[in-house]
Amino acid sequence: MKVSGSCHCQAVKYSVESDGLYPYQKCYCTICRKTSGGEGYAINLSADASSLQVEGEQYLQIYQAMLARDGRKKSEHRRIFCRNCGSHLWASHSAWPELLHPLASSVDSELPTVPCYTHIMLGSKASWVRTFATDQDLCFDDYPEESIAEWHDRVTGI
Ligand SMILES: [Zn+2]
Repeated sequence: MKVSGSCHCQAVKYSVESDGLYPYQKCYCTICRKTSGGEGYAINLSADASSLQVEGEQYLQIYQAMLARDGRKKSEHRRIFCRNCGSHLWASHSAWPELLHPLASSVDSELPTVPCYTHIMLGSKASWVRTFATDQDLCFDDYPEESIAEWHDRVTGI
């Protein structure tokens, strides 16, 4: 399914093909918390990187965080922002170049309602953030084994 998104100032618009559309995974790591703002977490979707189409490419800004635990090593997770308004648009990782992760907050297309959430990197969660996790939700202090594609297969049958 084709997903469309944009930044707040509309300088950047994008579309991408996705089969990982459920906004189920909340990442509470310090980088997602700081870069996405909001409630202290970010939700990445999963899409086919080769299908990405961008309008306003000159406004894109890449951010690769420094990993404190690895000294001065740059994260291979590339976060893409609009340099004009600061919206976090999508992310990608050099280990999985075929994948692109639209931030759910940047998506304009209607997204499906999630039956249960997965809360990840809770070991880095800010103390003021409440997860509101239910009994159906999964919670991890670090990253889960289950990929976004595996979650969709297990929970939605897609
Ligand atoms: Zn913008």
